[in-house]
This record gives sequence, structure tokens and C-alpha cells, in this order.
Amino acid sequence: MNKEIPYKIYLDENEMPKQWYNIRADMKNKPAPLLNPGTLKPMTADELEHVFCKELVQQELNDTDAFFDIPDEILRFYKMYRPSPLVRAYCLEERLQTPAKIYYKFEGNNTSGSHKLNSAIAQAYYAKKQGLKGVTTETGAGQWGTALSMACSYFELDCKVYMVKVSYEQKPFRREVMRTYGASVTPSPSNHTAVGQKILDEHPNTGGSLGCAISEAVEVATTNDGYRYVLGSVLNQVLLHQSIIGLETKAAMDKYEIKPDIIIGCAGGGSNLGGLISPFMGEKLKGLADYDFIAVEPASCPSFTRGKFAYDFCDTGMVCPLSKMYTLGSNFIPSANHAGGLRYHGMSSTLSQLYHDGFIKAVAVEQTSVFEAAQKFARVEGILPAPESSHAIKVAIDEALKCKETGEEKTILFGLTGTGYFDLMAYRKFNDKEMSDYIPTDEDLQNSFDKLPKLS
Ligand SMILES: *Cc1c(COP(=O)(O)O)cnc(C)c1O
Repeated sequence: MNKEIPYKIYLDENEMPKQWYNIRADMKNKPAPLLNPGTLKPMTADELEHVFCKELVQQELNDTDAFFDIPDEILRFYKMYRPSPLVRAYCLEERLQTPAKIYYKFEGNNTSGSHKLNSAIAQAYYAKKQGLKGVTTETGAGQWGTALSMACSYFELDCKVYMVKVSYEQKPFRREVMRTYGASVTPSPSNHTAVGQKILDEHPNTGGSLGCAISEAVEVATTNDGYRYVLGSVLNQVLLHQSIIGLETKAAMDKYEIKPDIIIGCAGGGSNLGGLISPFMGEKLKGLADYDFIAVEPASCPSFTRGKFAYDFCDTGMVCPLSKMYTLGSNFIPSANHAGGLRYHGMSSTLSQLYHDGFIKAVAVEQTSVFEAAQKFARVEGILPAPESSHAIKVAIDEALKCKETGEEKTILFGLTGTGYFDLMAYRKFNDKEMSDYIPTDEDLQNSFDKLPKLS
């Protein structure tokens, strides 16, 4: 076991990390900068501050400082539900009859039911510190909107959530949690915004998409005094906040001298995966240790495995900056799929660069096999996992079964990002054997790639 670590993880008396870790500081090939869609020049801090909170813009643009102190106000909030449990899945190991050791880091033990609260509370804090009235955002499956409404109510900020219309209709209970925390929730596309109205004119029956809800939330933030837009994944600042997951895991594993061989996470916009792997990736980048990192995505929305590494819009309305990332094209609307948190067309630019440089592997898995894994896990480990998280479970089980064949005693770590209590319609479909596995055709993808912005 390699005792040398690149930096010391500073812990408080509760074994909570006191700093976030910025993986970009240790990357030789930095992620490409966000571009202004008008000028195609890198976005400046000034430009970004029209949309985002000031201090978050500084975090977004900083690719040199490795550590950021976590403000006390945020640490205090974290302590209500952190450190989150790092669990050895003894019962799953036994059921699989595998020599592998399986660990998972469980982020579902807060009311929002996912890791998203880790960044929501940070973003709300900086908005409050800047003296803003409130923030706007989009939500797909509803986890991010829930997390943000909790964070905003804690800091007494207004919170306007644009919720993808299909989810708004299919997940009425999520909406009530958000409203209980004081957020206003509007189905998107709506006729409150110019961009929503335009999308409705073109597609009157659309169920909406994340990209479209982002466009609406950005419009509302930039046209209302005292508001900024916040985003729950994809951005560098979100990966920074989510590094708390990996730092806690690394500190705990170091303490017990456990070294994971394989680290697995589901990948929607990349924030939980980026957060979980960051301190381990830091070691790998410095040549101090080696790990296999595996990103798991749905076969219905395969940004890494079938996407293009190109500059693209982060939203459908094409109002956001261009980001260089693995993308299916901002026009790509994935088929209905029950892992709403993984239905985004793009991917974090940091993870995209790391994937491009060969530091991360990716696999795409089909929905039914994901729910089979979820069921297997729920029956032995007790936790009802979110469909998104179950993508990581599926691949952790596959890797453990490979160990059974080869007899290797690998240590497998995966991120269990949340609970599935609001996904029971999906579980019902699975239990009734009505679940389908839609995979886009090459032609579907090509149609969308043809519309990627052409930068000469
Ligand atoms: C949002 C979400 C994800 C995916 O988002 P990332 O930014 O890729 O982490 C995964 N799991 C759960 C439970 C989520 O809510």
C-alpha cells in the first residue's frame, strides 16, 4: 500500500474534511474553457457573473488552487448528515459468492435523498453572502430541485425551480417536498419565459427536457434583479463541492489501510463520479497510486461511450456558454428513461478531458439490467437504491462476478448516490415486467451531431 498521499486531507474532530479538493489543479491537460457563444472567446468572470454568483465564478475559473477551505456555515450544515456512511457490502458479497470486497459510499441519508445537497448548500451560501434575493434552477427527476429548496430555506433565499414537465406530472410528491421547503415549482416549458414560449410554439405537446428547463431558469435569473442561476451538476464548481464525497471516503479508507482497485460511479453530468474519484484521481495523475475508474451511463443516453468530444451548448435554448465535453448534441432528447438524473446530453468538461486522456473508462448499461441489480442489492443490503445509483450497482456486481471467475480478491468501491422512494412508478414498471430498453440508433445520434455548433 502506498502511504504517500499528494496532500494531507485536513479533518475536523468529526473526521469531516475541512477543504474541498480541485482536481483541475493536478491535471496536465486542463479542461477547455467555457466559450461565449457570440464571440467564441473564453467567458470572462464579468460575463459569467451576470448569470452565476460571484464567488462561484471564481471557483469555476480556478484551475490552479488544489484546495478551497469549506466555510464554517457550510460545514455546520454538512454535519447534519455527514460524514456519510461508507459501508462494506458483506451481505451482497456473500450472496454473490465473490472473493471481491465491495464498499459503497451512501449519499441518500438526507431528505433530498441524494448527493446533490452537498453542492446545493454551498451554492445557496454564496448567493446569500452576495446579498441576492434568490436563485433559479431547473430540475429533471427532482432531486436537485429538492436539494436546492432545502438549502435555500436554510439560508432564507427565494428559490424558483423549473421542472421538466414530464417529471412534474409523474412525480407530484417531489414537487410537494420542494413546496414544503418554500420553493416555487413551474413545469417547463412554460409560458413565463420567451424561450419557453418559443419551444411551446414549435413543440406544443413536448414533455420538456433538462436543456430546455435550463434555458428558462437562466432567462428568469438574468431578467430579474437580485437573482442568479445555479446548476446541480456538470460545472467545475459542482465537482469541487462534491469532492467532499471522495475526501471522506479516502480519509476513511486510509485510516483502515484499505485501497480500492476499482472505483465506480454513475454519470449523468458527472458530479458524483467526479467528487467520489477526485482525491484518488489526484494520486493517479501524480503517479502515486493506480486505480481503475469506471463511469456508468444509461444505454439510452450514452454521452461518453457514443458521444463526440466537442464544444456544445449546455442547454436547448442555446443561451448558455459553450462547453467542450462528450456530448450527444444539445438537440438530443433521450427517450423516456427512469433514471431522470442521467438524462443529460453532455458531461462535465473535467471528466470529459480525463476520459479523453484515458484516465477513466466508461460503460453503458440497459435499464432492465439496472433494475435487476437494484432489486438484488435492495434485497440483501436493505437500501432501496435510486435508479441512477443502480447503474453503479450493476457494474459493481459485474466486476465482483468477474472476480468470482478469476478468483481475484479485488476491492471495489462504488458511489450509492441516493434512495429510490420517489421512483416507485419505475419500480412498478419493472415489477410488472413492462420496462423497455430503448437505445438510440446511429442515425438518431448523427441527426443530433449534425446540429453541433461549428467552430472553425
Ligand atoms: C442527479 C443524480 C445523479 C447524476 O448526477 P451526476 O451529476 O452525474 O452525479 C446520480 N444519482 C442521483 C441519485 C442523482 O440525483
